[in-house]
Amino acid sequence: MATVTDYFGSLVFDDRVMKANLSADVYQSLKKTIDEGARLDPSVANAVAAAMKDWAVSLGATHFTHWFQPMTGITAEKHDSFIGPAPDGRVILEFSGKELVKGEPDASSFPSGGLRATFEARGYTAWDPTSYAFIKDKTLCIPTAFCSYSGEALDKKTPLLRSMEALNKQAMRILRLFGNDSVKCVRTSVGPEQEYFLVDKEMYRKRKDLIFTGRTLFGAKPPKGQEMDDHYFGVIQPRVAAYMAELNETLWKMGVLAKTEHNEVAPAQHELAPIYTTTNIATDHNQLTMEMMQKTAEKHGLVCLLHEKPFAGVNGSGKHNNWSIATDTGTNLLSPGETPYENAQFLLFLCAVIQAVDEYQDLLRMSVATAGNDHRLGANEAPPAVVSIFLGDELTAILSAIERDVPYNATEKTQMKLGVHVLPPFPKDATDRNRTSPFAFTGNKFEFRMLGSSNSIACANIMLNAAVAEVLQQYADRLEQAKNFDSELHTLIQDTIREHKRIIFNGNGYDDAWIKEAVEQRGLSNLRTTPDCMSALLAPKNMEMLMAQKVFSEAELNSRYEIMLENYCKTVIIEARTMTDMARKEILPAVETYVSDLAAAANAKKAVCEELTCCYETKRIRKLSMLMDQIDMGAEALEDALISVGMIQDVGQQADQIRDELLPKMSELRAPADEAETLVAERYWPFPTYGALLFGV
Ligand code: ADP
Ligand code: MG
Repeated sequence: MATVTDYFGSLVFDDRVMKANLSADVYQSLKKTIDEGARLDPSVANAVAAAMKDWAVSLGATHFTHWFQPMTGITAEKHDSFIGPAPDGRVILEFSGKELVKGEPDASSFPSGGLRATFEARGYTAWDPTSYAFIKDKTLCIPTAFCSYSGEALDKKTPLLRSMEALNKQAMRILRLFGNDSVKCVRTSVGPEQEYFLVDKEMYRKRKDLIFTGRTLFGAKPPKGQEMDDHYFGVIQPRVAAYMAELNETLWKMGVLAKTEHNEVAPAQHELAPIYTTTNIATDHNQLTMEMMQKTAEKHGLVCLLHEKPFAGVNGSGKHNNWSIATDTGTNLLSPGETPYENAQFLLFLCAVIQAVDEYQDLLRMSVATAGNDHRLGANEAPPAVVSIFLGDELTAILSAIERDVPYNATEKTQMKLGVHVLPPFPKDATDRNRTSPFAFTGNKFEFRMLGSSNSIACANIMLNAAVAEVLQQYADRLEQAKNFDSELHTLIQDTIREHKRIIFNGNGYDDAWIKEAVEQRGLSNLRTTPDCMSALLAPKNMEMLMAQKVFSEAELNSRYEIMLENYCKTVIIEARTMTDMARKEILPAVETYVSDLAAAANAKKAVCEELTCCYETKRIRKLSMLMDQIDMGAEALEDALISVGMIQDVGQQADQIRDELLPKMSELRAPADEAETLVAERYWPFPTYGALLFGV
């Protein structure tokens, strides 16, 4: 039997394959492009394309596609076959450097937020040689960026690459100041932990809400939920284990470093985490992982739900974005070092993150905003909508000592001077891990925990990289001017701690008292919903920063604002329509049938025995009739709200009205329907219940 080491990456055109299939010259030149971003020579592109095609064809591929991530957040591909006509009427297989480097999908149907007029429908895709090509479903997939002809980014990858470059540039300036001349580049790495639910496919098919919206819009609480805590890290069911085994194998072949998997808190909920890698590759891999999770589930008679909140009353799904900054020489800049200088450097990078998160907290919150994630953040299961940083008591105490120029602890007599003293040791993987913090330092990386399970990780990392780049730029400007580097560094760190310590919070993020303190005493923002936080994208301080770091142009920012809000509106409108449809066509008729059977039973009883008062049936009929009226009125009110929402032109106003009118009306319709579910005999209920869905695999 083939072992993992044999087949890992077997479907990836990786370094090993390149070396084996390219001439030394071509390989060197491609490597320079990959490592240093050097321009690719057309003749090299031709040679690479030919080698890629031969390799792909030898593995059964018949097509190629430029694989890109438009602003919808999912990946897009348009397949072309390798075949070309041969003079003898047969075909030859061909793939040119031009086809490798640039593609022109008809892109008029991708959202552009006004960036590309539809008459100029074509955008173009451009090869990202830093992310390896791979084979998926007999198709050679070439990771690409997607731009309009006037050069605006129409995707998530382009700004992500720009943000990595911005951070690289500023971090390099800092490293040079610390006398480090050997590092060639600095990159951020990410390990995203992905949560998901698995439900039975047959049951899924019977629920319009799952089919149309990815989440349940109705459903009474089952007798058992997650209260026993018996699912978390529990034994994996054979059917799920078989699914996970196939998923791992599929991902490994594609070079995705799938590492850990376990059951999560909610029944039917699971998690998969890969080993971390460079951010743009991690982003590609996370998209692939989500796709393969869904495809593999199909084969096992399952459906993988990536929605942030598939079930009310049980935990939703998120994605933890573990993020760090490292040099090409392998040093993690967020890892405390062993010499005084390494430590000072660590503290400076740490401060940069603290300042960036404080100054751009609204932008970070915005970067994870979707209609689905609104159900999670702040709902006592995911971090709150307030952004704060967990550093742990030890590191917080160290920063506090530095800020106040006092000894770090009672046993130590001398004050800590940066660049002179070694940092006192503190527990690396702090045992007091705080699971309620939105942004937690975990020894040598930060874990940004606000992302939704279906989010592309691109947006969060774009904002994070850009914000940290901006702060590092300010630091570099200041330190480059300094007469005495050590003392300027010391004051800089002190200033930063003093000005930004409000963002540090080591307590329980789920506590209501914290939200109050955060907002009222610390002045942190609490942006609870997507409409609340979208304006952050267009706030002057944020736009200036993103444009100064060359991550987005003004037009690109405006387009993203439009698209994100439009997406929010469309999502909730589809949910509302699905609800009225289910209420009218499924729930009401089902309750009706049950009620008439109850009435028939009551009549039958009367015929047998005059004295019988039929009190059970009558009581049920009365209660259910009342609920049916409420469901009917609820559906009507929701239909009216849909009409008035539909008349609003401005997308911002429409989103506000959806939050204030439509969503509450959806809850009002759900309540009587869920109550009816508890009163109607099970075999009458028109779709599988929570109990069946959550415990049916
Ligand atoms: P948890 O206890 O939160 O599940 P783990 O220690 O299993 O966390 O790690 C979670 C993720 O963090 C993994 O994807 C792992 O590869 C990633 N990770 C570990 N070290 C780093 C790092 N230096 N930079 C980025 N991600 C990292
Ligand atoms: Mg984690």
